[in-house]
Amino acid sequence: MTVSDTTSTTLSGIGVSPGLVAGPVARMAPPIPEPEIATLEPSRDIEKECERIALAAQRVKKSLELSAAEAKAEARTLLETTAQMAADPTLTSTAQAMVREKRLVPERAVWESAGTLAAMLESLGGYMAERTRDVQDVRDRIVAVLTESPMPGIPRLPEPFVLVAADLAPADTALLDPEKVIAFITSEGGPTSHTAILARALGMPAIVGTGEKVTDALSDGDIVLVDGTKGSITINPSEDALRRARELASRVRVFNGDGATKDGHEVQLLANVGDAAGARSAAEAGAMGIGLFRTEFCFLDQPEEPTVEAQVEAYQGVLEAFPGKKVVVRTLDAGADKPLPFLTDATEANPALGVRAYRTTRRDPEVLDHQLEALAKAEAATEAKVWVMAPMISTAGEAEAFTQKARSYGLKTAGMMIEVPSAALMADKLFEHADFASVGTNDLTQYVMAADRLLSSLADLSTAWQPAVLRLISTACEGASHRGRPVGVCGEAAADPALAAVLVGLGVASLSMTARALPDVDAVLKSVTLAECQELARIALDAATAEDARAAVRAKLPILEELGL
Ligand code: PEP
Ligand code: MG
Repeated sequence: MTVSDTTSTTLSGIGVSPGLVAGPVARMAPPIPEPEIATLEPSRDIEKECERIALAAQRVKKSLELSAAEAKAEARTLLETTAQMAADPTLTSTAQAMVREKRLVPERAVWESAGTLAAMLESLGGYMAERTRDVQDVRDRIVAVLTESPMPGIPRLPEPFVLVAADLAPADTALLDPEKVIAFITSEGGPTSHTAILARALGMPAIVGTGEKVTDALSDGDIVLVDGTKGSITINPSEDALRRARELASRVRVFNGDGATKDGHEVQLLANVGDAAGARSAAEAGAMGIGLFRTEFCFLDQPEEPTVEAQVEAYQGVLEAFPGKKVVVRTLDAGADKPLPFLTDATEANPALGVRAYRTTRRDPEVLDHQLEALAKAEAATEAKVWVMAPMISTAGEAEAFTQKARSYGLKTAGMMIEVPSAALMADKLFEHADFASVGTNDLTQYVMAADRLLSSLADLSTAWQPAVLRLISTACEGASHRGRPVGVCGEAAADPALAAVLVGLGVASLSMTARALPDVDAVLKSVTLAECQELARIALDAATAEDARAAVRAKLPILEELGL
């Protein structure tokens, strides 16, 4: 949609990470296409063409080194390794040999030479196989120089900018430097994709699913105001709009670590984290513990299973941030948009419905054993209270097998995620085995509504405001209450302050979210009593549509307007 006044134009998409910022647009160049197999015209000087390859590789190496010098820790190491690859003589000398022997055009020769090198590294396995990505990255950059195409990847500018791209993979998003990239806008992507989740964790306003028309309308250097709450993008914003953005950015709300409703009903407000740094900032933000540690985020790029020692180190770093507090650790949730090469099968036709998450134990049970062993060791070395849960449990048999196995490693509190409708419907039976459950509303919504969470075109279905999703959460809470087991929510629904009140009314005992959402959720919960939350839950369960549920609940929470939420 486009709304224009005399100077500004407002475009819209799906706001997935809140915040209001303004800055210049920098577009991410499209991926470099494979150059055609073509030979040099007879008039071309072979040696000059070989020289062009060497110069292009030099230029790529220098620009990567410059970027590395400016980048922060993790990104710096990555860029330095890629720069080393650009300096590797094998890549250039093989390409030059192809130009001399086959008269291939340089860009094609570089492409083929990189293919040979990547295959060789792949066959060596381990650390060497991990370098395949660097070879491809360097190949694309050299080809871009040779063909005078825009450099692929995240643009590198001296000033902070708003990144505009077709799509971003979770691995790319995790490496964005929030001091450089102040917001991002993508034409593709859904509201509960892991890219959106990472944007919220980084505190980076983000708008996805705008469609190509919107991203095409944004040119490098355009000044835009990005409202990640509303999903609006204003080109050439007015001075007034910019002032309001600055004002809102300067308001700081804090959470004191005492989650409760107005009448003192305790609601644990916990954090979702993916690594030790995230856990430390969550502790600083006042989180009462961790409600979801996505362990797979520690190993997203690794081609092979991490050793038990490496796992102990990664888990210990997170547990150490919360001595004496609850830390809910989820076992590896690989699959769909989080493939782990050592655990998931990239050739499945429907990965969201395939051998993913807990189901990977059918094929590789020892990976879970190693993880539980590492977790027990990490727990023994720290003072955190570890609760362990498995993702995507679907049957009582799976709940029984997982919890028994976890306990056999000395992990006392073992539970499950409720993300598959069958688990919510059969909750009373599953709680015969599980000590607790955490509802993953992102996947639960995807499976109840049969709507891929990555698709922006189905965003209206992909919301936990859907009464069908809320009814299943209510069923899960009832199933747990017979046995006095706690149910939490760790999907994105927990970070929506209005929905959080509804979830408390449904009987949810803890809400886990990106640490940045804690103050807003806390402020709204402190404005209502438990009885009022229960009334809001009744209203939402009784609504015919997600839009009706949201509108009716929000109308009863005037504090949302006051807080600008
Ligand atoms: C969920 O599905 O809601 C969840 C918390 O797990 P993830 O988003 O990592 O799939
Ligand atoms: Mg999930």
